[in-house]
Amino acid sequence: MHVDVAVIGAGPAGAAAAIEAARGGAKVMVFDKAPYGRDKVCGDGLTPRAVGALNDLKIDMSDAHHIDGLRMIANKTERELLWPGTSRFPAHGAVWPRRRLDAALIDAAIEAGAEVIWETEALPTMDGHQVTGVEAGGKKITADLTIVATGAPGQVARMLGAERVGDEPFGLAIRTYAESPRHADKHLEACLTLKDEHGVSIPGYGWMFPAGDGTVNIGVGALSTMKGFKSLNLNKLLASYRDIVEEPWGLGPNLERPRAWRLPMSAQKRHGDGWVAIGDAAGLVNPMNGEGIDYGLESGMLASQLFLEDPVTAPMRYDQQVGERFDSFLRTGRRFSFLIGHPWILKSGLRMAVGTDAIAKITLQVMGNLVDSETPGASGRVLNLADKALGIADPVLRKTRAAA
Ligand SMILES: Cc1cc2nc3c(=O)[nH]c(=O)nc-3n(C[C@H](O)[C@H](O)[C@H](O)COP(=O)(O)OP(=O)(O)OC[C@H]3O[C@@H](n4cnc5c(N)ncnc54)[C@H](O)[C@@H]3O)c2cc1C
Repeated sequence: MHVDVAVIGAGPAGAAAAIEAARGGAKVMVFDKAPYGRDKVCGDGLTPRAVGALNDLKIDMSDAHHIDGLRMIANKTERELLWPGTSRFPAHGAVWPRRRLDAALIDAAIEAGAEVIWETEALPTMDGHQVTGVEAGGKKITADLTIVATGAPGQVARMLGAERVGDEPFGLAIRTYAESPRHADKHLEACLTLKDEHGVSIPGYGWMFPAGDGTVNIGVGALSTMKGFKSLNLNKLLASYRDIVEEPWGLGPNLERPRAWRLPMSAQKRHGDGWVAIGDAAGLVNPMNGEGIDYGLESGMLASQLFLEDPVTAPMRYDQQVGERFDSFLRTGRRFSFLIGHPWILKSGLRMAVGTDAIAKITLQVMGNLVDSETPGASGRVLNLADKALGIADPVLRKTRAAA
């Protein structure tokens, strides 16, 4: 059998690619090893940038919980901020539990004409360096383009040499759900001053993301640049964060066993002859806040748009254009994560980052990658400056990295 586009993975990235390609008239087949309606370990938080991408895909968001902004907490300082509105992004975010978000996305792909094969692992087939399609369920399907949307690197990444870059940072995060009378809050909450059981400050944060359906998503995440990362016990970290938020949020018991997963923040390769990698499979996760849904949606749409323009040059142009859109921001984020791996830099940096409302607003806009390149403003200038300064400091940052 032959298709125009074979997509491996039906998460947000794979679904976005399938929607765009199928709406453009391509014959699309998507494979996922999980059944329809699968869950994904996630905070379920959507920044305005992600909402913008869902709008571009014309996804009906009436099932999502609308979010006006972010409450940042650092020790005793608390700042409640509204999302910035720019000409590119709406001024609101959302919380949309992944089971429902991912179903809405893949339903849109099916409606557009994509065929989805569930509970079927797919692996790329190769002719030398050329990916010719996939082998799935004992069948070979050839494709003009194979889109790898497999999430955090596994077997497919190993086959294609697209694993994460060994000495670049990555993240780990854990989450569960609990009932709360504050489930319909209009702000995400992030606690930036987490400590591990030895009192070491964590480069990362604890979150309370109200889902509007009686529950909140509660979780913690940490970057690999901290000292002692390998022995960090995420379950204990989550339990100690829960102790802090239990009373103010009136939390009920955990509704499920907390589950952890990886946040890949780099990839050795994201294209080759006949294939591209998108979303987490391409290491497209924001090191400053751990969000990857938006990058999955945007990279998925881009890959398919370029395929529809010209299938032959699509992989090369995709690598170039996705790089122009995200590489400098993600590189700055990775360098920043080396910096905050040092507890004393983290502490003084945090004091500054939430010092005043005006600075906290810039922090929010920079960390959320919500800087509008056409009207960059103060946040754009901060980001440019950070890019240059961290670029110069990079060799020192790597040499003095805190991680054991
Ligand atoms: C605890 C935690 C909290 C997070 N919170 C947020 C958040 O609040 N907001 C945010 O934006 N991001 C968050 N992220 C990141 C976000 O979850 C990911 O960036 C996002 O899921 C990436 O989407 P994706 O489509 O690339 O991959 P995935 O969603 O991982 O989908 C990959 C799919 O590929 C399938 N698959 C894999 N291999 C194969 C194969 N060989 N054959 C067939 N199918 C295959 C899998 O079954 C899966 O369905 C969080 C991550 C973690 C771990």
